[in-house]
Amino acid sequence: MAKVRKKAVGRVKLSRNIYRDMFACNCGCGLDTVDANLVIVLQRIINAFGNRPIFVTSGNRCKHANDNSKPPGAKGSMHLRCKAVDFYFPEHGDMPEVKGFEIAKVINSLFGDILYYYILDGSYHGITSQRGRVCHIDVGNA
Ligand SMILES: [Zn+2]
Ligand SMILES: [Zn+2]
Repeated sequence: MAKVRKKAVGRVKLSRNIYRDMFACNCGCGLDTVDANLVIVLQRIINAFGNRPIFVTSGNRCKHANDNSKPPGAKGSMHLRCKAVDFYFPEHGDMPEVKGFEIAKVINSLFGDILYYYILDGSYHGITSQRGRVCHIDVGNA
């Protein structure tokens, strides 16, 4: 009987709180490459929130995943180019989940207009949303 060798799997750490697998395409294809600027920007946002954990709802998207998402992702989506991430700060210890507009405020103070971002709130994408929690950021123009 052939011995099954276990592959050594380790998480690849990209910065203090960010691992490469956090960006892996949700379809399971393994696309987990990521733009270096996106890591830098995301880490700065996490730092501003005291390094609490984030939860990524969508990082990279291969063409298949983008076409099949509901609603279908934009053709020019920065998620296709490994330059975008959707994330939120879940409840952590005794700290409640962070509201999307709080993230927006911090991003604006850190980056002003340089960083493209919005808060996802159902079908509505805006930076002033009071209900949304998931934040999209991308470094498409960086
Ligand atoms: Zn995929
Ligand atoms: Zn997004």
